[in-house]
Amino acid sequence: MLYERSSKLFDEAYKYIPGGVNSPVRAFKSVGGTPLFMKKAQGAYLIDADDRQYIDYINSWGPAILGHTHPEVLEAIKKQAENGFSYGTPTELETEIAKFIVENVPNIDQIRMVSSGTEACMSAIRLARGFTKREKFIKFEGCYHGHSDSFLIKAGSGLVTFGNPDSAGVTKGTAKDTLVAEYNNIEQVEDILKNNIGEIAAIIIEPVVGNMGCVLPENNFLHKLRTLCDEYGALLIFDEVMTGFRLAFGGAQELYNVKADIVTYGKIIGGGLPVGAFAARNEIMDCLAPKGAVYQAGTLSGNPLAMRAGFETLKLIKKDHNFYQKLAKTTETLDFEIGKILNEKSIQHRINRKGSMMSIFFHISSVSNFGQAKNANHALFNNFFHQLLEKGIYLPPSGYESWFISNSINENEIDKTLEAVRKFEFLN
Ligand code: PMP
Repeated sequence: MLYERSSKLFDEAYKYIPGGVNSPVRAFKSVGGTPLFMKKAQGAYLIDADDRQYIDYINSWGPAILGHTHPEVLEAIKKQAENGFSYGTPTELETEIAKFIVENVPNIDQIRMVSSGTEACMSAIRLARGFTKREKFIKFEGCYHGHSDSFLIKAGSGLVTFGNPDSAGVTKGTAKDTLVAEYNNIEQVEDILKNNIGEIAAIIIEPVVGNMGCVLPENNFLHKLRTLCDEYGALLIFDEVMTGFRLAFGGAQELYNVKADIVTYGKIIGGGLPVGAFAARNEIMDCLAPKGAVYQAGTLSGNPLAMRAGFETLKLIKKDHNFYQKLAKTTETLDFEIGKILNEKSIQHRINRKGSMMSIFFHISSVSNFGQAKNANHALFNNFFHQLLEKGIYLPPSGYESWFISNSINENEIDKTLEAVRKFEFLN
């Protein structure tokens, strides 16, 4: 049996951990089969409990942009660990990383560290509400901003993978302040703003979506949102948990030249350790406790091990002047070459791509919103996923997730991936 040890480990985990996993998409529920239990990661590769090796296109869902276990990041973590894991006090390191980020990302003056993307987005909304003294906000169908209550309404990622974009346990009272628009539909956003004059605190968006598969903003959507926010007095929140430090060092703000009022980060900013962050200009950040009236806190916020891993990762990215060009080139090659092979096999598909994010939608010609993402042939994606997995290629286990390309993917890995795609058998 291919995945014998993983299968045994999953049976055991199932007894003690709900669904056998600590985060739902890991369960392979969408694609079926046994989730693989990994035991080691190095560079572009993951090694599972059965000692099988995979080229990794998930990269811990984004953080491992350098590839896994980069020697310099590892060294930095080891060195810090010798001086302690957590102090519960301020450290000089926290200011160093904050300064570095503020100086290298457009349009932010201060940054607050938290421990996850969920916390970052939850706090950003509270801050927007505190700043504007308004209660409602607009999000987009299929966008995921973590699992805090007010976001679990028409959310993407794991929720849609399991066919239920809303979560039980979220009260009607909470849900009524979350207004939902279709991604890339500026008229709908404007209608909502017009119908709720003086009530919308913020519009939160994944500037490039990863959580309904990769979906790009079209027709100057982000610029138009900026204009509407200014017109109606709402704050624009870019959720850059996936896109921050990935699409460019300054994320989507830099790439699309659109200024957000609040920006959230996660994933890469922690270099693989648990970190999130949110940032804004002084006027907004000054509303946060202990200076201001908007409360937010965390026992492990600014944890020294996580700060070290994040800082080292960001510095390595920054000093490589060719970093983003190489990532984009790798992703473009994968897009073109996979597209070519699928065309030769007469498999209709659409590949969406930006920088080092991409995903394949089968049997559909374009995907710019959640409705279209749902209309793709997900059964075919699941089949594609399993055939590639058997050949040592590890894609996200759902057609509603973006692939994250790392800097460790080189020609050799691309060739192996294309070889696996060439062997893909389309069974009708
Ligand atoms: N925002 C976005 C855009 C995300 O993709 C995610 C997680 N994938 C989150 C927020 C939540 O981050 P976390 O899982 O670290 O809580």
